[in-house]
Amino acid sequence: MSHLKLTEVFKDYGQVRVLKHINLDIRSGEFMVFVGPSGCGKSTLLRTIAGLETITDGTLEIDGEVVNDRAPSKRGIAMVFQSYALYPHMSVFDNMAYALKLQGLSKSEIQTKVEAAGEQLQLTPYLKRLPGQLSGGQRQRVAIGRAIVRDPKVFLFDEPLSNLDAALRVATRLQIAKLHQSMERSTMIYVTHDQVEAMTLADRICVLRDGMIEQVGTPGELYESPNSLFVAGFIGSPKMNILDGEYAAKFGAETVGLRAEHIGVGTGDKAISGKVIHTENLGSDSYIYVDTGKEEPLVVRQSGMQSYKPDEAISVVPQPGMIYRFDKSGQPIGRG
Ligand code: ADP
Ligand code: MG
Repeated sequence: MSHLKLTEVFKDYGQVRVLKHINLDIRSGEFMVFVGPSGCGKSTLLRTIAGLETITDGTLEIDGEVVNDRAPSKRGIAMVFQSYALYPHMSVFDNMAYALKLQGLSKSEIQTKVEAAGEQLQLTPYLKRLPGQLSGGQRQRVAIGRAIVRDPKVFLFDEPLSNLDAALRVATRLQIAKLHQSMERSTMIYVTHDQVEAMTLADRICVLRDGMIEQVGTPGELYESPNSLFVAGFIGSPKMNILDGEYAAKFGAETVGLRAEHIGVGTGDKAISGKVIHTENLGSDSYIYVDTGKEEPLVVRQSGMQSYKPDEAISVVPQPGMIYRFDKSGQPIGRG
């Protein structure tokens, strides 16, 4: 069990302020996901929690104790990186056993723990192999196994799946979800730029922007009630359609956001007309990209397969009540 609390945490690299006013409670057993644009400070925040970076100002507490000055190895934390960082000349077994040997565990204790982790991650047939004889997905599972055997209170993951191809990403994502279910006492903090990973794995998502926390909430809360235009545009795939000018003025807003699934074919005074650029048929549903004369195409979702032709004229309307309205400063002012 491990509860983390960050209070007014700042991190500077020399003159550069990378993290600002970080206030965050991560509950025991929670799966917290950090998302945000590249360079916003996700890895720095994770490394600060791990103790790989010092905290410039503020406090980090684990289970009520301030651990700012506690060595990384004494924090009960295990970290899994994007690059697997395995020892190439050690077998899978020895890679997982290494930290346990350093801790002075007996041979039989090590054997039990490594075999259990191998079982859990479906690595049993590969324990004698070298990392070079494994696929990327298997290597990442070894890296996760190395973290599991230490029985940490907190797991930190920094974009662990981003080096894997699409199919392996899905499979390994499911394994991480199962891991969380089976280790319900462990707190997990997971950095990703992948929308699907964030939405499917997280109990709560923390959106970072320029070193500050923009919003923290469940995937559903962020998706349905973004507290800024930034979060609205960042959470969800495809991205929310953002319109301004005269069209937004029809709803008494500076900017409006329309999700692809809330737009249908139709006419009327709230209609948007344009030309079809391209249709993505996914089988179960289709995404129609519409040129409305703006820089960004409007994305409209329709169910089933669609057979629009490029350049075909189309008129679409948003579903009443599902128009996200924002003021000049990007603050939400309710739906229209
Ligand atoms: P993210 O993981 O969200 O992409 P990072 O936490 O890696 O972002 O980086 C946040 C900012 O801090 C970036 O502007 C980056 O250039 C800067 N930064 C990261 N590490 C260092 C460092 N060791 N020294 C100086 N600047 C750094
Ligand atoms: Mg990073």
